[in-house]
Amino acid sequence: MAYDVIVIGSGPGGYPAAIRSSQLGKKVVIIERESLGGICLNWGCIPTKALLKSAQVYEYAKHADSYGIQVGQASHDFGKVITRSRGVADKMSKGIQFLMKKNKIDVVMGTAKLLQPGKVEVTAADGSKQTIEAKNIIIATGGRARELPSMPIDGKKIIGYREAMSLSSQPKSMIICGSGAIGAEFAYFYNSMGTQVTIVEYMPRIVPVEDEDISKELEKQYKKQGIQIMTGSEVLKVDTSGNGVKATVKTASGEQVLEADILLSAVGVVANIENLGLEALGIKTDKGKIVVDVHQQTSVPGMYAIGDCTPGQALAHVAAKEGINAAEHLSGHKVEPMDYNNIPGCTYTTPEIASVGYTEKAAKDAGYEIKVGKFPFMASGKASAAGATEGFVKVIFDAKYGEFLGCHMIGANVTEMIAEAVVARKLETTAHEILNAVHPHPTMSEGLKEATAAAYGEAIDI
Ligand SMILES: Cc1cc2nc3c(=O)[nH]c(=O)nc-3n(C[C@H](O)[C@H](O)[C@H](O)COP(=O)(O)OP(=O)(O)OC[C@H]3O[C@@H](n4cnc5c(N)ncnc54)[C@H](O)[C@@H]3O)c2cc1C
Repeated sequence: MAYDVIVIGSGPGGYPAAIRSSQLGKKVVIIERESLGGICLNWGCIPTKALLKSAQVYEYAKHADSYGIQVGQASHDFGKVITRSRGVADKMSKGIQFLMKKNKIDVVMGTAKLLQPGKVEVTAADGSKQTIEAKNIIIATGGRARELPSMPIDGKKIIGYREAMSLSSQPKSMIICGSGAIGAEFAYFYNSMGTQVTIVEYMPRIVPVEDEDISKELEKQYKKQGIQIMTGSEVLKVDTSGNGVKATVKTASGEQVLEADILLSAVGVVANIENLGLEALGIKTDKGKIVVDVHQQTSVPGMYAIGDCTPGQALAHVAAKEGINAAEHLSGHKVEPMDYNNIPGCTYTTPEIASVGYTEKAAKDAGYEIKVGKFPFMASGKASAAGATEGFVKVIFDAKYGEFLGCHMIGANVTEMIAEAVVARKLETTAHEILNAVHPHPTMSEGLKEATAAAYGEAIDI
């Protein structure tokens, strides 16, 4: 069959690209070598949030007494927690199957390889091959866990994120190398379940891409929860010959050997661009990613690339928007290019983290004279009622024109609050509009308004 669009990879980049292309009248086929929904639905965003919800419910049960509720001795069944998470992932993947059918998109299971512009060979699990042709191709092959030579993932004692969310038994102790969103989320999950967790972070602070105040607050909360943290430290080698692991760690005060049952390597992701046939077609790559222009076009006409296999933040919502943009562009629509400085980033730890735009340091480095406002949730009625007073909202404005430069939140439910800051920044809102938009009371979202008021010396509640 002749297609208009071939999409390679069905993650949060690929499947929206396929659906949007179909909505715009294209005949579309999507090729997937593993499971519909990609990493996000099967091994990323969704199953981790299911695990974190179990941890949160467990924490609530353990501390129910402080709300005046008696539940007896709380306990958990690790196997059931994992089974629930896998069930949620499976259900979401089946949902993509339904969406493909609904949008009349053909699904071909197998590994795709580019033969020439507009021509793809697909090898099925049984080795059979077929060739598919289309005017346009969207490459959405995503990424996988980065492996460091000092920590080769063996899936048993040195594990990656896939194993970390599907272990058959709970380790008593775990070293987590890397404290980006993935490492930080697993640290909260395993610590809550009762595993003794040690984070080893190469950078001087945990969640290093966040504003420095956010890193400090998470470190404080994590230490309170019992998580051990070693920053400015590097795992040099891991000995897996004994019962558990022995990790040699270089710290500012010399080398230390840490022992644990298992080590989770959470040191980032690399793009799936090998064996795709990129070189033969002359598709340019740089630093392990496919080079694209502002419309997601690769260096070869008619071929697009989106999501984790391209530069830009490795996030599901980035992949999805890039996919929609590519579909609209190849359909002849005028497309507004992505603004990578207005991408929200969320980490679903307890407390949660959500941020968008410039950090305080980045704003200063960019030469802005700034006004900073902070509202601690300690002063929030809703946070007090909820028993979740940890954290704050921090906002950064340009002192000269009032531009809303950045927003950084840590606390309960902040991942649901950050969209207000994203929309405000998109609409080029200043403090004036935020202060004149009446926020509902009592909510955590009042924190954004109060932090803004604080930046201008008008705070009421602090
Ligand atoms: C543990 C974890 C938690 C995460 N949590 C979040 C979160 O909370 N929020 C967030 O925004 N992001 C999160 N992410 C990141 C998010 O999962 C990715 O950014 C997102 O999945 C990227 O989407 P994508 O479509 O580019 O690629 P992917 O989701 O990686 O999908 C690519 C698909 O292409 C397929 N494929 C690859 N090569 C071929 C080939 N040659 N032929 C056929 N098929 C192929 C793969 O099998 C895969 O299904 C998380 C990631 C991890 C690992």
